[in-house]
Amino acid sequence: MMKNYNFSAGPAMIPDEVKVRMQNDLSGWKVPGISVAEISHRSSSYIDLLDDTKERFKSLLDIPNDYEVLFCHGGARAQFSAVPLNLVSENDKPQYLNGGYWAQSAYDEARLFCNAKLTSIEQYHNKVYSLKPCDEWDIDIDAPYIHFCSNETLNGIEITQLPEQNFPFIADMTSNILSRPINVNKFSMIYAGTQKNLGIPGLSVIILKKSIINSDNERVPSVLNYKKLLDSNSLYNTPSTYAIYVTNLILKWISSRGGLMKIFHENQKKADYLYSYLDNSPYYSNNVDPKYRSLMNVSFNIEGNNFLDEKFIEAAEKNGLHYLKGHRAIGGMRASIYNAMPFEAIEKLVNFLDLFTKNIK
Ligand code: PMP
Repeated sequence: MMKNYNFSAGPAMIPDEVKVRMQNDLSGWKVPGISVAEISHRSSSYIDLLDDTKERFKSLLDIPNDYEVLFCHGGARAQFSAVPLNLVSENDKPQYLNGGYWAQSAYDEARLFCNAKLTSIEQYHNKVYSLKPCDEWDIDIDAPYIHFCSNETLNGIEITQLPEQNFPFIADMTSNILSRPINVNKFSMIYAGTQKNLGIPGLSVIILKKSIINSDNERVPSVLNYKKLLDSNSLYNTPSTYAIYVTNLILKWISSRGGLMKIFHENQKKADYLYSYLDNSPYYSNNVDPKYRSLMNVSFNIEGNNFLDEKFIEAAEKNGLHYLKGHRAIGGMRASIYNAMPFEAIEKLVNFLDLFTKNIK
């Protein structure tokens, strides 16, 4: 049977080994006949799972002791509201560095709650998307925090370098968390929706320095309140129990593959193979500056022939290569190649790209 691959930007592919485990556990997790989706979030077996998930994050990302891992409802966009609600007051001016669609969306939401300031770090020259080098960012040293999106999922622009000097950075890492090792000390807070490298949607994972939590901020809705989440071990109300369980399996899967550095090298190999094919083909183009190309989301166009996009998508699906359509805001194609995507899938995609050029010539 032909193997199908899911290149969707999210909800995204889950590793086969994890899906097998999910399937088996549905017929009984700790007790035969009762799955993890059916047990109390206050039962000792569930609390063990929650604590184990936090510990696995701490160990995989080497999270220092003055940070905590929280689980919150509502995906990444809930954090677009929760960050300003928890951390600043109406008149405060946190800074939002704008590198694209998601950074701008976080800013738009923050404006509902505070006097957030938007600063562009984008550069667009000769139809190539790029970013200003991090030491040229116009950082406001008085800002209570500085927000950015570390990987713009739409067109595939990734920030991997931060200024030497320390700033209170908050990063939306929804589409590149756990794709490479990071220095958590460079951040006041990191958050991510779970539907890409962490499993299924509905949940956000927050890694924050405990000292930034503002306990006076009583107007924050309780389910988004960091102090309440911290004090309740992320059990203020019923959490997304099944999503946390899937994240736990994925963290175990990463460890079983040899940890983050190993995953990073695999991601580099996959992305290099695909970008290098696109760069060497006269028929396709990727318009992101190679210095900022994402390892997770590879956008591409059929050179001068975008009327062929639909035909491309249709033919790709017949070949088992699914959900390659670009985001509705920019069109074109996008291959999202998160941690779970195996190298064979990239080879299959490249073979298909090559085959399809017969329609272009
Ligand atoms: N930030 C980024 C970088 C994203 O890619 C997405 C979703 N694609 C979001 C935020 C929004 O996530 P959610 O749908 O979980 O709110």
